[in-house]
Amino acid sequence: MSHSSRISKTIDNLSADKQTLLELSNKLHSTLDLDSLITLLKLDITPILNLDDMLYQTPENTDSIDPKGRHLISYQLVLQKKNLGEIALIRRTRFNDKEQQFIEKILVALLSPLNNALEYQHAMKLALHDPLTGVFNRFAMDSMVSREIDLSQRNNTPLAMLAIDIDFFKRVNDNYGHAYGDAVLKQMTKCVKECTRTSDAMFRYGGEEFNLLLNNTDLSGAQELAERIRQHIETTACEHEGQSTHITVSIGISILNDDDNQASFFKRADNGLYQAKKNGRNQVVNSKK
Ligand code: GH3
Ligand code: MG
Ligand code: MG
Repeated sequence: MSHSSRISKTIDNLSADKQTLLELSNKLHSTLDLDSLITLLKLDITPILNLDDMLYQTPENTDSIDPKGRHLISYQLVLQKKNLGEIALIRRTRFNDKEQQFIEKILVALLSPLNNALEYQHAMKLALHDPLTGVFNRFAMDSMVSREIDLSQRNNTPLAMLAIDIDFFKRVNDNYGHAYGDAVLKQMTKCVKECTRTSDAMFRYGGEEFNLLLNNTDLSGAQELAERIRQHIETTACEHEGQSTHITVSIGISILNDDDNQASFFKRADNGLYQAKKNGRNQVVNSKK
């Protein structure tokens, strides 16, 4: 006989009893942050139901939850046919009917604030990311560079920036068309990501120009990485709809100085890039000014 039981149900807003759930609903409506919302709910119901754990999975996450020999009751959360993810409650003993009714009432109150939090998270992602390549956009760059400069100065750790621009990209568009050019931008982003750490932030500054912000990275580390990126892009074929070509990039490096501000730090990377273009492209330049 199995010691764990799995009950899966669908919660939808049709069963909402809005009057009785108003108080809890107000509380859950107090935050748009997804993690805070789930924590609020967890703190509220864990002592009442004597839970071992409460897990939430977003609609994108399809991993199955393993209750590890304990009892699990899981609910698929749906609001007006929109999938809001899954919530699972786990404990050592089985949930009785009364407890299940209680859980279901609470989860109904969660639906609307959860939908708001998911929409907010989605809107933030759209506001900070470039839709074509998925990397951060220029708007996100301003605040993230400013924060990394503060951290680097406070902790006395090196900070580097690379400015990367595709060489003769206009020719790619002219020869193969704009859609192919778009595919090349995505491929190039992939190449850069394959060379970098997860803590390295990549930004699309505009058109075919990208910036990389490298925390805890000094000049030799930045030079090594820039060269690795340059070579990886040069040797990777861009394939799209049966057509194949190779591109190269020019890269400028900047290392944060004591007397730098955001503008001067950025400008040095851009100057390096400009010099790399002038010297013949497909190369890395560390500009002194
Ligand atoms: P250089 O080596 O000096 O950088 O030459 P380049 O041709 O790369 O530079 P230029 O600035 O003259 O041209 C950039 C081109 O990038 C022009 C524009 O059509 C193209 N571009 C900018 N954004 C996009 C985009 O989102 N998709 C596509 N397909 N092309 C873009
Ligand atoms: Mg270019
Ligand atoms: Mg350019």
